[in-house]
Amino acid sequence: MTCWPGGAPYAATVSFDFDAEELMIGENPANANAPGVLSQANYGPTVGVPLILGLLRKHGITATFYIPGKDALRHPDAVRAIIADGHEVAHHGHSHANPTTLTPEEERAELHDGLAALRSFGADVTGYRSPSWEFTPHSLDFLAEAGLEYSSNLLNHILPYQHETHDLVEVPVSWILDDAPHFWFANDTWEKTIRAPREVLDVWLPEIDGIAALGGHAMVTFHPFLSGRPSRLAFLDRVLSHLAATGAWIAPTRDIVTYTREHGPLALNTEGFTDRIAAINLAPTAKEARA
Ligand SMILES: [Zn+2]
Repeated sequence: MTCWPGGAPYAATVSFDFDAEELMIGENPANANAPGVLSQANYGPTVGVPLILGLLRKHGITATFYIPGKDALRHPDAVRAIIADGHEVAHHGHSHANPTTLTPEEERAELHDGLAALRSFGADVTGYRSPSWEFTPHSLDFLAEAGLEYSSNLLNHILPYQHETHDLVEVPVSWILDDAPHFWFANDTWEKTIRAPREVLDVWLPEIDGIAALGGHAMVTFHPFLSGRPSRLAFLDRVLSHLAATGAWIAPTRDIVTYTREHGPLALNTEGFTDRIAAINLAPTAKEARA
């Protein structure tokens, strides 16, 4: 089993995908000329980020912000505020183009242009999360070539691990602990949903408790244009409180990577897990209502 720092039963990373206008343009290039569509994402750096930084200060949490290079250049004050508060800044494409739609040369150029943009702010960038977690057969080669330390893209584990083929640590993600599938409404299709914060807490908290029961790593992912909305700031606040109350070692991704390099390979704590899983409260919000 894995012994996390300080005897913590599990680890967690609070991550934000700083997706502003580039997200919408990546979805549909015609959106570059659609100020209304762009304004939905513009809410993130304009209103969401300052409020989120205030919540992170309240909880004393150092987070990781994955930032597209072009969005960083478009919103320099938000990026400077993130860095000033000591949060990790990591790579999230230059544009928000899906790498699987690019040629290998274009994918490599995205990586280098995004790095240059983030480093122009003085950010020490060691990790990469691709737009929409899309990956190509070349991605690991390009990350290693660029001298990066880690990838946070794959969905195949609840523990970080060393890639066998490259000197890179993978810090896995999941759609279940991403706010976008729950909260991202888009008016082009009307197929994406607006879920109640309370309902999403019912999805998230048992998943976090399950990861805790197994001694894993919970990577929670938020988008400022989604979770910077007022009702969802309350959701974020509740999630951060839950991580602390359940004893997580809360660390930015770069620190998870350092720990994995020094102590890996990590293993789940499966001894006696059946009892811990059975004890998970599947109605945490109802419990809170009684408290
Ligand atoms: Zn993104």
